[in-house]
Amino acid sequence: MAIINKNFRTLAAGYLFPEIARRAKAYQDANQGVALHRLGIGNTTEALPPAVLAGLHAKVDKLGHNDTYSGYGDEQGDTPLREALASYYKSLGVEILPDEFFVSDGAKADAANIQSLFDRRSIIAIQDPAYPVYVDSNVVAGRSGQFDREKGYYENFVYLPGTEENKFFPAPPTQKVDLIYLCSPNNPTGAVATHEQLQAFVDYAITHKAVIIFDAAYSEYISDENLPKTIYEIPEARKCAIEINSFSKFAGFTGVRLGWTIVPHELVAEEAKPGELHSMWFRRQCTFFNGASNIAQAGGLAVLSPEGLSQSRAIIAYYMENARIIREGLRSVGLTVFGGDNAPYLWVQTPKGMGSWEFFDQLLQQCQVIATPGSGFGPAGEHYIRVSAFGHRENILRAVASIKDNLVLEVRS
Ligand code: PLP
Repeated sequence: MAIINKNFRTLAAGYLFPEIARRAKAYQDANQGVALHRLGIGNTTEALPPAVLAGLHAKVDKLGHNDTYSGYGDEQGDTPLREALASYYKSLGVEILPDEFFVSDGAKADAANIQSLFDRRSIIAIQDPAYPVYVDSNVVAGRSGQFDREKGYYENFVYLPGTEENKFFPAPPTQKVDLIYLCSPNNPTGAVATHEQLQAFVDYAITHKAVIIFDAAYSEYISDENLPKTIYEIPEARKCAIEINSFSKFAGFTGVRLGWTIVPHELVAEEAKPGELHSMWFRRQCTFFNGASNIAQAGGLAVLSPEGLSQSRAIIAYYMENARIIREGLRSVGLTVFGGDNAPYLWVQTPKGMGSWEFFDQLLQQCQVIATPGSGFGPAGEHYIRVSAFGHRENILRAVASIKDNLVLEVRS
């Protein structure tokens, strides 16, 4: 008899986005013909730029001729792409060898799978709020206790709350943990760690032989030159950090699918010498993964060309202008807004201490705007909503105008 992995039953019911979709549909069913303004899901909307399209087209054409056709490539990714990624990191002032990159079909699967390198008994620390895959992958792997509905967290996980006091980037844990998930720029808060904050985590990890899983999927949105775009700007991070990144938000590849993970040769863990974790991830990818699409990889190479970079960065600037419009609009009606200056997400405090689903419903009912309830990202998100700057300008303007015209911030007794 097959026995199921009962850890799936431990997962808290209702993934965030299906619940948002359910409430949006219920509203639309009750209000036929009323248009909704979506500031919710972090999906890219703008067309790929010409240099990237040319790279994709050229690869498709090559696949159409026997003499240029190629089938399976290296599981770790095409060498020219890994070399281009190494040059990209060099431009950030960081030395990563081409064979330390593992090209993937996106950051989400890597973020879910990377925990398989570590013992089931590992103690997990997670930035709270956080992108849900870090928590859920460790629940399914059996590292959590039960979900506490009252408190909104899993037993046995160490939550590192991001609050207004710490500018939404926490200090390292006070107890010993083994794996630490960090995301900077953060989804959902839009907060970015400083060099000093990352240094504190790296110092902690080295002292405690912990490993940091650093998700840098939004690093290209950082415009402040004083903020680190990669954890390897902290040199000792090579001994204690794995970095995950993606072309999704960098270059509009949310549908094309391409990402990468860096496992440095120097990375160590309890009883694991330098090189062992790198070999383990290589072994894992060779057995469980057959490489990212060669068309997507050609597109990634085009993104990293000088024209591709400048055209992709122009689209990022467009989204960041959306963020500025949203920030100003929301502040003008009296809302308190964080983030959105080095990240495409704005973290908006709910008025008068409302719960985040309650404010979600208010925005939906009064303004027909869909945002994302902060509590869906962890207990520290309870009094916030996430607003996304991904969208066509005209839709962003309509959504902001609707909030300005219709939101009623009542004084609660
Ligand atoms: N990491 C973070 C923090 C994200 O917000 C997202 C997507 O929203 C991802 C990873 C997923 O990236 P990908 O599309 O490469 O799977």
